[in-house]
Amino acid sequence: MKKGVALVWFTTDLRLRDNALLHEALQKHESIVPVYCFDWEAMQEEQFGFKSMGPRRLQFLLESLADLQHSLLGFNAHLQIIMGKAEEVIPRIAKELKISEVFAKKEVGSYELSAQASVAQSLNAIGVEWTTTSTSTLFHPNDLPFGVRDIPEVFTDFRKRAERDANVRREFPVPTEIATPDLKPTLLPSIESLLVEQPAADSRAVMTFKGGEQEALKRARYYLLDSGCLSNYKETRNGLVGADYSSKFSPWLALGCISPRTIYFMVKEYEQLHRANDSTYWLIFELIWRDYFRFAMKKHKAKFFKKGGIQNRPPKTSDDKNALLSWINGKTGVDFVDANMHELRLTGFMSNRGRQIVASYLCNDLKLDWRFGAAYFEEQLIDYDVASNWGNWAYLAGVGNDPRGNRYFDVAKQARQYDAASEYRKLWLGIK
Ligand SMILES: Cc1cc2nc3c(=O)[nH]c(=O)nc-3n(C[C@H](O)[C@H](O)[C@H](O)COP(=O)(O)OP(=O)(O)OC[C@H]3O[C@@H](n4cnc5c(N)ncnc54)[C@H](O)[C@@H]3O)c2cc1C
Repeated sequence: MKKGVALVWFTTDLRLRDNALLHEALQKHESIVPVYCFDWEAMQEEQFGFKSMGPRRLQFLLESLADLQHSLLGFNAHLQIIMGKAEEVIPRIAKELKISEVFAKKEVGSYELSAQASVAQSLNAIGVEWTTTSTSTLFHPNDLPFGVRDIPEVFTDFRKRAERDANVRREFPVPTEIATPDLKPTLLPSIESLLVEQPAADSRAVMTFKGGEQEALKRARYYLLDSGCLSNYKETRNGLVGADYSSKFSPWLALGCISPRTIYFMVKEYEQLHRANDSTYWLIFELIWRDYFRFAMKKHKAKFFKKGGIQNRPPKTSDDKNALLSWINGKTGVDFVDANMHELRLTGFMSNRGRQIVASYLCNDLKLDWRFGAAYFEEQLIDYDVASNWGNWAYLAGVGNDPRGNRYFDVAKQARQYDAASEYRKLWLGIK
């Protein structure tokens, strides 16, 4: 028998399709209250001198929330967007609306975990049940052939065993009905009301990223099913210019506007319709990297934010502030690095190849503390994801999950290989 009212706490699962939280809550309860806590203070907090969220990601988040709000409205359900800290908002609403159970996603980042711990404690004090569920990975953690504590330290070991022993679970469908108590609509803040200047568009950007589940599904259908891009992904994925050299799914995946399982099953659909090849496999391979960083963070927790990383081996670094500023502003004098840093600052996106090169340059050539780079990326990237960002940075700094230790990228060689005709550098540095 279904019981009482549940609260579904949306954080980075801003979608209706394949949403385990929503599914479980609707299965168990007569009605649900969908809530998003808009913690503006936390979004502006600084670490290493950088904000946790820059204007481009903020805009993408607002668009994603608007889309979720609109989708829920189709069910006559009002998304409750409440300004404030989850630690205060969730227990308060739970009390006011006589909620019997709160559903939230399982988190891995230190900040998110500590916020959840205090929400859970306050709920416990008022007798409200607290349930967390895994929602953001391709493989469900319970299907892996090892527990979190035994997750291999080397990606290839993880991937091979996961591929051999775990199946990708079926997606949860979009609900057919969402019953809610009588809730008043709430207002989504506008970027102007937050006193943030609308970020300027740059015509050289790889594409215009618009937040929300509908846009995510549109991009996924285009890239995976309609355009034929997927069939060459393995050959094009190290590209630098344009929308289609890689999927550009990352911003939507980061906010959970789409789930990796939805992407996986679209790839399978393509394979059924056409054929499987190295490229169709490689897209899934990349999603497994994403899983890996998330599980590794679950295992090592706050170590990922320490200078010595999970290896507990802090590198010797310089604190040359001017060197850091030259990197940020694309003024190192190394054209390939500078071009990438301009792209990031002016658009909020950078290719995977570019990210590896500029991160290696910061760690190995400028010999700066890698966490300044990670924090700057956190502020700038539209697709910022705690595990993917800090995990990749630690990996490149030689303090993460890499059996080979420090990864050095020879920038001149990389430029010859990946930008032989200087197309990318010309685009961003304006060289004729
Ligand atoms: C220093 C550094 C920082 C990074 N920070 C982030 C971040 O904050 N958020 C983020 O989503 N990715 C991050 N990445 C990973 C990767 O660069 C981006 O996911 C990718 O460039 C996004 O473009 P795409 O969606 O077109 O990727 P595609 O090549 O089309 O890959 C498909 C998807 O696979 C996943 N993926 C691909 N490569 C990686 C990888 N190396 N690690 C984890 N997942 C991967 C992403 O979800 C991506 O959307 C970082 C990489 C480096 C080297």
